[in-house]
Amino acid sequence: MIIKGKTADWEVVCGLEIHCQIISQSKIFSGASTHYGSDVNQNVSFVDAGMPGMLPTLNEECVRQAVKTGLGLNAKINKYSAFARKNYFYADLPQGYQITQFQYPIVGEGFVKIELEDGSSKNIGIERLHIEQDAAKSIHDISPTKTFIDLNRSGVGLMEIVTKPDFRSPEEAGAFLRKLRSIVRYLGTCDGNMDEGSMRCDASISVRPLGSQELRPRAEVKNVNSVKFAMQAIDFEARRQVELYESGGTMQQQTCQFNQTTGQTKFLRFKEFSDDYRYFPEPDLPPLVLSDEFIEDIKTNLVELPDAKKERFVKELGLTAYDASVICENKEMAEFFERAAQGHDAKKVANWLMGDFFAMLNEKKLSLEESPISAENLGKLVELITQNVINGKTAKDVFAIMAETGKAPEVIVEEKGLRQVTDTSAIEKIVDEVIASNPDNVAAYKAGKTNLLGWFVGQVMKQSSGKANPGMVNQILKQKLG
Ligand code: MN
Repeated sequence: MIIKGKTADWEVVCGLEIHCQIISQSKIFSGASTHYGSDVNQNVSFVDAGMPGMLPTLNEECVRQAVKTGLGLNAKINKYSAFARKNYFYADLPQGYQITQFQYPIVGEGFVKIELEDGSSKNIGIERLHIEQDAAKSIHDISPTKTFIDLNRSGVGLMEIVTKPDFRSPEEAGAFLRKLRSIVRYLGTCDGNMDEGSMRCDASISVRPLGSQELRPRAEVKNVNSVKFAMQAIDFEARRQVELYESGGTMQQQTCQFNQTTGQTKFLRFKEFSDDYRYFPEPDLPPLVLSDEFIEDIKTNLVELPDAKKERFVKELGLTAYDASVICENKEMAEFFERAAQGHDAKKVANWLMGDFFAMLNEKKLSLEESPISAENLGKLVELITQNVINGKTAKDVFAIMAETGKAPEVIVEEKGLRQVTDTSAIEKIVDEVIASNPDNVAAYKAGKTNLLGWFVGQVMKQSSGKANPGMVNQILKQKLG
């Protein structure tokens, strides 16, 4: 994105920090449950409540999940990492510090490939991924004068993923967030639900004159909870900074809040620097050292990720890159497609999936799991068309009945007698009748109005109750009309 100013053209420089809640049964440093939706303050151990003298114990599953995610980000896994205390005082942080990683994160540099609407792609650099504990949750809307604290979230494992400042537009940031969400969902390491707070995004935004390589002071917009809002925040903040510079102002590093109603960012405070947190090595936890076997084991059992699946769908099944990326964004959708395409024309299956099938789910407000049409039945419907048992028009009717009844397509075709007429003599008979009863149009056709052919095809199809094979009708009509 280039912002035209009076004095210069400006470009956006943006990096993201994303906090992803780790999927695990228990918290990262205690045995308390991570179950979402429990009664308040039910899943709290003494460690999570910050009782003095309690000792954290690292949950191996959280480590495994972080390594898995690191591999999904094409990143370097650090066999040596260490925990640190980040000190700050806040009501939702009973310990008075957060156990996190600072100098030695568990995952180092990597990259994520994003696809843009114009068909181009770009690699976004990953700076690091570290693991840490989540804070508790403050509840402000019960009392006008009091804030309540729910400690259930305190100590839930987080992966903080930091990108390089590689984004040059809100669209790139949006594409990245969708891709990251897709990757962690494929891996099963985070549920990726931004609206429930299990994936939260901070965006650091600055601008600079186009062509310059400098990094100017940035504004960090905190806790944006949807892809759309992240894009809006970047767009608004970048334009605000351009206006500021153009009117002779200067920027100071700062922290902002995003207002979902107005779509604007609002100044909160001048940004604290890492010195302010007085990080020091966590004395209660030894450094984390991973064995080669531990990492190898995770690598060997890694699921096929969206990029690899997409490539396979393009190469082996002949899908277009666009279709493949739409289908692969969601793991369940990709698996549904593969089951449907098994043994059938994959491109046709993809067309039906992305057309009528998506529209049907949308209209009925159903999730994929609730679909009345199974993957197998969608594949069979396509096969009936390929085998010329029904034509494309009849297939639409059969599809509608499948969506209502959940029946298999071949059953519907038999029950309703929808089998396509491919018997040449039967079609010829109808063609002869249509020609005989429309002498005026026949004359007009012969006189050169050849676009009447479509009208003749329509008449024959109508006479056959839509069951004639349209290709054969066309051919026979052309012959007979001379
Ligand atoms: Mn963090």
